[in-house]
Amino acid sequence: TSKRRKMVEATEIVKIYGSFRALDRVSLDVFDGEKVVIIGPSGSGKSTLLRSINRLEEIDRGKMIVDGMDIMDPKTDITKVREEVGMVFQSFNLFPHKTVLENLTLAQIVVRKRSKFEAEEKAMMLLEKVGLVAKAKAYPGNLSGGQQQRVAIARSLAMDPKMLLFDEPTSALDPEMIGEVLDVMKDLARDGMTMAVVTHEMGFAREVADRVIFMDAGRIVEEGTPEHFFTAPSHERAKLFLSQIL
Ligand code: ADP
Ligand code: MG
Repeated sequence: TSKRRKMVEATEIVKIYGSFRALDRVSLDVFDGEKVVIIGPSGSGKSTLLRSINRLEEIDRGKMIVDGMDIMDPKTDITKVREEVGMVFQSFNLFPHKTVLENLTLAQIVVRKRSKFEAEEKAMMLLEKVGLVAKAKAYPGNLSGGQQQRVAIARSLAMDPKMLLFDEPTSALDPEMIGEVLDVMKDLARDGMTMAVVTHEMGFAREVADRVIFMDAGRIVEEGTPEHFFTAPSHERAKLFLSQIL
């Protein structure tokens, strides 16, 4: 029997800022190869949930197991978790004074201890994948937003992650560039990457998500297949949200 392995196992996690509960007993499992799309209004805790997966935010209560590692256990090597679970942000976060190629090789050389040659070979292969071989020697500032985000995705992939987290990867982009980034993400999905994606792109959610999760006020209030979610949401807040966004 092949019981699917859990990449993320979050149980009743709570995150408190001051006296405000950004996450209020959130439980979420993400299985190997699964694509989960997280939606919900601004301030509902989507980013906090993603960031708590690789401990960019420290949770106050609950349990977070990532690829079998208890991330709140002081004995867990958190850098290993972050190597396995890459994150792509709205704002790209590329190193502005390094070329595209250097952006892609730096962590490979420093963290993965690859030779420069090996790292560059991998980088060029990934630039090919995201359609940016011609930009290898360019600096991020000379690329469009869509190109920068594709570089950021390639940079995450250079670490051979087991999972990628995307936090509104297209929200900072001009409309004509959104498609090219979503296409790269769809390719990754097709290749079997395990993904958790916060996005307002409902077309992407419909097409790619195995499961859609709707958050409101720090809680997961509804989840289901895209078919369920887009045709028959039951929660009032989810209905309202969809009526506003679709
Ligand atoms: P979303 O990504 O769904 O818009 P966030 O996870 O960013 O929501 O934030 C959830 C709530 O937590 C928001 O009300 C936000 O103001 C609050 N919050 C997030 N980060 C911090 C912080 N560092 N300090 C205080 N409050 C925060
Ligand atoms: Mg957010």
